Amino acid sequence: MPRNKEIIDRVAGLLTDEIDLEKITAAAEQILEAIGEDSNREGLKKTPERVAHAYQELLDGYRTDPIELLNEAVFHVSYDEMVIVRDIEYYSLCEHHMLPFIGRAHVAYLPNGKIIGLSKIPRIVDMFARRLQVQERMTRQIADLIDELLHPQGVAVVVEGLHLCSVMRGVKKHDARMTTSAMSGAFRNNMSTRQEFLDNISRGAAPLHF
Ligand SMILES: [Zn+2]
Repeated sequence: MPRNKEIIDRVAGLLTDEIDLEKITAAAEQILEAIGEDSNREGLKKTPERVAHAYQELLDGYRTDPIELLNEAVFHVSYDEMVIVRDIEYYSLCEHHMLPFIGRAHVAYLPNGKIIGLSKIPRIVDMFARRLQVQERMTRQIADLIDELLHPQGVAVVVEGLHLCSVMRGVKKHDARMTTSAMSGAFRNNMSTRQEFLDNISRGAAPLHF
């Protein structure tokens, strides 16, 4: 499906070079020195290396091949009821502080001849979450990818996030919790479609907590 490949490349991007573990290790060593720690003491000896591997894992969304992820999973069917996947847990790092923000994503679309394997939607969320992000952009990227891949009658993404850079730094706490949304097509133009989605995702939802 070369058309899909083009779309995915444009919307999702993909880095093919390996992450530079040595460089991160060296940088983490410098941070330890800079804050006045003894990077040779027992507990810290292997910390720079661990930091490098942690970043490799937490940011592997840049190197998740979206073609591999999605290409085999788009199906042609005549089904036109709303598809909703809610409460998708995600873990991301904010690009301003490189601190975690975590939460849940809710994704819906109204098919228009094409659907995507259900298990792929959480993996799309994951792919975008495991990058340096701002929540607004992540929300938009998830919606755009589904939109361009399936050309549905509409797509809706709502993301709730708790931002540790605000919580831990004691910045106004109420700013730590954020909800963002991206809606297109029927979810934007048709009140009852939009409401059906919003009702569904608010039903029995527990508030975000640690
Ligand atoms: Zn931040």
